[in-house]
Amino acid sequence: MPIANYSQYCQMLDAAKRGRYAYPAINVTSITTLNACLKAFADAKSDGIIQVSTGGAEFASGLAVKDMVLGAQVLAEAAHTLAARYNVMIALHTDHCHPAKVDSFLKPLIALTAKRRAQGLPNLFNSHMFDGSELALQENLKVSRELLELCAANQIILEVETGVVGGEEDGHDTSNVGKEKLYTTPEDMLGVYETLNPIGGRFMLAATFGNVHGVYKPGNVKLKPSILHDGQEAITSKYGKDAALDLVFHGGSGSELSEIHETLDYGVIKMNVDTDTQYAFTRPIVDHVMKNYDGVLKIDSEVGNKKVYDPRSYLKKAEDAMAKRVIQACDDLKSSGKSISATALAA
Ligand SMILES: [Zn+2]
Repeated sequence: MPIANYSQYCQMLDAAKRGRYAYPAINVTSITTLNACLKAFADAKSDGIIQVSTGGAEFASGLAVKDMVLGAQVLAEAAHTLAARYNVMIALHTDHCHPAKVDSFLKPLIALTAKRRAQGLPNLFNSHMFDGSELALQENLKVSRELLELCAANQIILEVETGVVGGEEDGHDTSNVGKEKLYTTPEDMLGVYETLNPIGGRFMLAATFGNVHGVYKPGNVKLKPSILHDGQEAITSKYGKDAALDLVFHGGSGSELSEIHETLDYGVIKMNVDTDTQYAFTRPIVDHVMKNYDGVLKIDSEVGNKKVYDPRSYLKKAEDAMAKRVIQACDDLKSSGKSISATALAA
């Protein structure tokens, strides 16, 4: 199937919210990791979200070019081409874009979609994230509003963030941020709704509830999913049931399954997964190298073993292991077996 269009993506999100499940949003940085996701979603009969970070996009453009817009474009175009061979719905998204990169990443990507639309081509990406959490809330909402207007004009969904996700990801380190900042308040969520809802474009909110990027030993991440419940309550008691926000769960590696499931009841419809799939990808490569030490290396004037130093020999294992981890994410988020592809095609 082709990459989801706007209407199909909205149907995906609506179905998840109604059915109390969420889509894994998996970060990719290469064709191999992209293929792992496509295979996994198809095997799980789950629709899904594939996303690219600014750093991942820069990496994908090559060490000599280092152009994050070009890299994002290349990965998205590859996804458009490859997804056509699978029978599930895939949406393309870009991950955290901090204010400093709006002009050099987000806006050029929206402009590429606008250009494609003018030519009758599908959007390059279905959704983008603006992460203004380092700004004061009012400033964050001001920029979010401007970007949502731009996105809405091009049928792009915008993900915004309030509060701060702890830890380090993609070179962005928030370990020194005060603990209270790690928890979004009901007032913050109400502010997001009241600022963005009148614009008419669809948006999602990464509301933080103690989440931390990266992985920590069990017990170190103090999640308070009830924060999401309280925020939704503040909105729906004032504006009615349908006003409940589409929520995104970041920094969930190492979370208890019961905590993940609890968030699904509070409107989480997208959960970012990166650290766990990074590890799943690398794990078999380490195994391969250690078991084939004298084959991957040319030791003592020997010639090594081409069969084991051919990058495909270990990247196939990596792709397979990552795909298995993505299937687990679909199972954990209850999206397995629920692809709407059969009915959404008519849209
Ligand atoms: Zn994140």
